[in-house]
Amino acid sequence: MTDILIRNANTILTMDDKRSELSNADILIRNGAVAAVGTNLGNTVAALPDTIIHEAKGCVVTPGLVNTHHHLYQTLTRAVPGGQDALLFGWLRTLYPIWARFGPEEIFVSAQIGLAELALSGCTLSSDHLYLYPNGCRLDDTIAAAAELGMRFHPTRGAMSIGESAGGLPPDSLVEGEEEILNDMIRVVDKFHDASEGSMCRVGLAPCSPFSVSRDLMRDAALLARDKGVMLHTHLAENDEDIAYSEAQFGCRPGQYAEELGWTGPDVWHAHCVKLDGQEIDLFARTRTGVAHCPCSNCRLGSGIAPVRAMRDAGAPVGLGVDGSASNDSGNLMAEARHAMLLQRVARGADAMSAREALEIATRGGANVLGRSDCGRLAPGKRADIAIWDTTGIDSAGSWDPAALLLAGPTRVKHLFVEGRQIVRDGQITSIDLPTVIERQNRLARALQS
Ligand SMILES: [Zn+2]
Repeated sequence: MTDILIRNANTILTMDDKRSELSNADILIRNGAVAAVGTNLGNTVAALPDTIIHEAKGCVVTPGLVNTHHHLYQTLTRAVPGGQDALLFGWLRTLYPIWARFGPEEIFVSAQIGLAELALSGCTLSSDHLYLYPNGCRLDDTIAAAAELGMRFHPTRGAMSIGESAGGLPPDSLVEGEEEILNDMIRVVDKFHDASEGSMCRVGLAPCSPFSVSRDLMRDAALLARDKGVMLHTHLAENDEDIAYSEAQFGCRPGQYAEELGWTGPDVWHAHCVKLDGQEIDLFARTRTGVAHCPCSNCRLGSGIAPVRAMRDAGAPVGLGVDGSASNDSGNLMAEARHAMLLQRVARGADAMSAREALEIATRGGANVLGRSDCGRLAPGKRADIAIWDTTGIDSAGSWDPAALLLAGPTRVKHLFVEGRQIVRDGQITSIDLPTVIERQNRLARALQS
């Protein structure tokens, strides 16, 4: 692969171990990884005729952003009128019958849209939580979409097994048998999981939530994940209804339920965690259990403000997630990071979280939650997942500190590299024909409305 030199960036926010910020600096990319970060690298490579040069004058360069929680399929059910103003459980009951009509094409196209939208907001690594498999849908459909786009992808094989007739929330038509679920989990891990450094695809196991699968499936999924060396993911402690359900059904809080079933540890991350109490935060910090903080979704569903300041202070790993597009409804990870910063300030005051800390959570923090110490920072040997932000436009005009991107700056990336390959150039996706995909998505959405 030809070397690439990103040259003359106004600022590089490296998010390395020292959180170094470099001015008028360069990055050299070689074989999908960062070969060097520093000033005047151009002098050393000028003699190499093959090197592709990218001018980054007037730009701020950051690691690619990391999305730790999404349901890509939901881009087909944005702003559904019946779900616009509902709380979590009522919102789910409105949407389940629509999702029950999805097939493989819906899953593939909606994933293309969701991932492209993330890429345009600077995201280079995304997880996805797909927990419904009606009409022949497979995790394979989303993996194909990510591979075509060139996004680094951590799909998780989700599942629901307790339907309405058994006291669960989803309709019976959307749940699967638990043996069938475990067999398919084994199939997708064996087929797609790549544990190597620089991996473009790592599969996780992800029963949907404690209120849609049995205790047995939670435990069996944890045992299987440890056996296969893959990560575990689910929703936890999302709102007051969720806590009440846990106390009524299991006789304990969600943290205790998770701990009893093997759902704590550095190989586990939970979405939301809005209602974790002090003891649960200590549990997460002690066991290095990760959190996918989804501020926009939490606002949209009125779930509350996650205690992110307390989590970070205790040492619990925290990353960001845009969550599914039926509860955000946008998939802009840069906007998500700004919301994360603002919400902590609402709860704790203006000094509760700086713009740079929120950006750190969105990059290095998310990579740590997903077990990717090879991503989320720009340092020699780390993967070349790089976002370049143009700070010469109106969003930054008049800014005294253009590198404070979350206070004043663009929310769409100018250039984006994943594993050293450019997938966004001058604000446009290079790897897929986006207008055609948008047309196809709108056609599918209209068909679902009829
Ligand atoms: Zn979710």
